[in-house]
Amino acid sequence: MSNLSATSAATAGAPSGPMGIFGGTFDPIHYGHLRTAYELLEILRLPEIRFMPAGMPPHRSGTFAPNEQRLEMVRAAVAGQPGFTVDDREIRKSGPSYSVETLAELRAEYPDRPLCLIIGMDAFLGLPKWHRWRELLTLGHLVVAHRPGWNAPTHGPLGELLVDHGTGTVRELHEQLAGRIYIHAVTQLEISSTDVRALISTGRDPRYLMPDGVRRIILETGCYARKDMGRG
Ligand code: ATP
Repeated sequence: MSNLSATSAATAGAPSGPMGIFGGTFDPIHYGHLRTAYELLEILRLPEIRFMPAGMPPHRSGTFAPNEQRLEMVRAAVAGQPGFTVDDREIRKSGPSYSVETLAELRAEYPDRPLCLIIGMDAFLGLPKWHRWRELLTLGHLVVAHRPGWNAPTHGPLGELLVDHGTGTVRELHEQLAGRIYIHAVTQLEISSTDVRALISTGRDPRYLMPDGVRRIILETGCYARKDMGRG
C-alpha cells in the first residue's frame, strides 16, 4: 500500500475511525476477552471492535464447541455493549482462517479506515508462525494486550519488529491506516478458555467467569460437558 495516511472521508452512515478486530477461537468467550476489548475500546478511542470467531484455526487441531455455538456465545456476550460487533466471516468460510486474508478483505472493504488487529501477548510471541505474517502490518496495526506471565520480546525478529513499528501514541493509530504496533497493559484477568472448559467438564459452574448469557448457552447445550474438554 503506497498511502498509509487515514483520510477523514468516510462512507455516509458508516462508522469512521479505527476498527478494532479481535479474533479468537472463543471456545468459550470469557471475561478475559471482554475486559481486554472494553479497555482497548476506551483507551484507544475505537468506535468499533469486531469480535471475529475463527472458523478452523490454523494452529489448532479443532474446536470443542461447534462453530454456530461459539458464534452464538460471542453474540450473547457482546449484546448491549455499544461499539462491540460480531463478524462471522471466518466461521462462514470453509477452510482455515488466516488473519492476513481477513485483514486484506477488510482493507478492500474499508479503504479509509485504520484497522487494528488485537491480539494477546501470547499470540504476538507466536506471530512468526502465522501465515504471511510480515504482510499484516501493511494492512493494519497490531494492538497487543499484555497477558499475565508473558513479556514483550526484546530481541529476535519480533524485537526488531517492535523497534521499527512500535508506538506509544494512540494518535498514530488514528492517523495512519496500518503499520504500527501498540502494546497496552490491560487488567490482568487470569482466565483462559482451556481452564474454563476443564472446570465445566468436571461438573463445576463457570458463573462469574463469563456473562450470564454465555453461561446459559453452555449449560443448556452441555457443549463442554465431556471429560476430555480441557486441553486443546
Ligand atoms: P485457550 O485457553 O484455549 O488458548 P484463550 O482463553 O487464550 O483460549 P482465545 O480464543 O484463543 O482464548 O483468545 C483470543 C485472543 O484473546 C488471543 O489473542 C488471546 O491472547 C486473548 N486472550 C485470551 N484470554 C485472555 C485474557 N485472560 N486476557 C487478555 N487476553 C486474552
